[in-house]
Amino acid sequence: MSTCLFCGIAAGTIPARQVYSDDHLVAFHDIQPQAPLHVLVVPRRHVSTLNDLEPGDATLVGEMVRRAAIIAADHGYDRRGYRMVLNCNADAGQSVFHIHLHLLGGRRLGWPPG
Ligand code: 5GP
Ligand code: ZN
Repeated sequence: MSTCLFCGIAAGTIPARQVYSDDHLVAFHDIQPQAPLHVLVVPRRHVSTLNDLEPGDATLVGEMVRRAAIIAADHGYDRRGYRMVLNCNADAGQSVFHIHLHLLGGRRLGWPPG
């Protein structure tokens, strides 16, 4: 997946403001932040959409959520709150086809989302 933006960021060939990295995940600041904290948590392995997750990926998705919670806490947002978002395909506005968890924090977030 040499043409995939987030594969490139995970491989280090495309620059990003990284906040976390391990064997399975990378996390970095969104280039167009929608909140004071807007971090994307992505698996190193290319998965195009949530529809492409396989049964064995439950642990990977759990690691994404848990890592986002830790990053939120590291920024002091655990008590006041934050939001995690995963967009899938056109109706949700997915624009990068390598799954990513948005972590948003630092302001009051409206509900329902737009
Ligand atoms: P989606 O709309 O697919 O759920 O979210 C894609 C996100 O990727 C958007 O919030 C967008 O701002 C972010 N994004 C797009 N291109 C880049 C980039 O080159 N670097 C970083 N760090 N974020 C990007
Ligand atoms: Zn990819």
